[in-house]
Amino acid sequence: MDRYCVFGNPIAHSKSPEIHAAFAAQTGQHLQYERRLAPLDGFADAVRAFIAEGGKGANVTVPFKLEAVKLAQALTIRARAAGAVNTLVFSDDGIIGDNTDGAGLVADIVNNAGVPLAGKRVLLLGAGGAARGVVLPLLEHRPAQLVIANRTVARAEALVEQFAALGGEGVVSACGFDGIEGDYDVIINGTAASLSAELPPISPSVFAPGCLALDMMYAASPTVFLQFAGRHGAQLRDGLGMLVEQAAEAFKLWRDVQPATGEVLQTLRAKL
Ligand code: NDP
Repeated sequence: MDRYCVFGNPIAHSKSPEIHAAFAAQTGQHLQYERRLAPLDGFADAVRAFIAEGGKGANVTVPFKLEAVKLAQALTIRARAAGAVNTLVFSDDGIIGDNTDGAGLVADIVNNAGVPLAGKRVLLLGAGGAARGVVLPLLEHRPAQLVIANRTVARAEALVEQFAALGGEGVVSACGFDGIEGDYDVIINGTAASLSAELPPISPSVFAPGCLALDMMYAASPTVFLQFAGRHGAQLRDGLGMLVEQAAEAFKLWRDVQPATGEVLQTLRAKL
């Protein structure tokens, strides 16, 4: 039976084994998927050991996504753009690094929430690893505008420098939270503020009528960001859909089969 795993530290909380087991059952694929706790100073050795045991691929989570870039012998365009790897494929040509987080976010917005991104004004809060990973997939959907706002403005500016040419003239821009102007159709919280129950200091005026607000974090109850957005009329989504969709992208990469995500998402939601 083909073997896959997720590497992280800590890893006990990971929902990936449950998600991939559900995908495998649904698509009739015979595979095994487990959690692997990699030592903080032993990620590369842990991956090599898994390959030696016959592993076919792996997911990578905190804190190894940057180290996985170095370990991979080849990177996909989206992994290179994200500067991070969350999916490894162990092929005859070596270790290939990909990043499915951004594609997962976009699939959740476009397919699950039913909100097309083409021609929309998108506000991305944050310029850390998660935010960087979603910029290319967002731009591939041709939004009219992508504003990246971050507490440390220089980090948002660095992303604009990296991606401006891909967005087209004037599409991508950067600012601090106090420099956000106008309202937006899609507002994505990619900051880590929700982890400490904080709200990025944004004005209610960013929420356009009928907009979608998405927090990359997920929890049993809405984050402070989603509560704030809900009070100002936004349609709400948390990061659970992104999690399931990034897994579906990885599954497709490994098995060449597209799993359906709706039921898996519902099951996970019921267990939060
Ligand atoms: P990073 O540490 O790489 O980046 C953190 C970002 O949040 C930076 O932009 C930082 O700003 C900003 N930030 C941190 N604290 C605050 C605050 N109190 N107010 C405003 N901005 C703040 O983290 P990641 O990018 O890896 O993770 C960000 C979020 O995305 C987390 O909540 C994580 O759980 C979630 N995530 C969800 C995934 C999913 O599948 N659903 C996948 C990956 C991540 P500055 O640059 O100024 O420090």
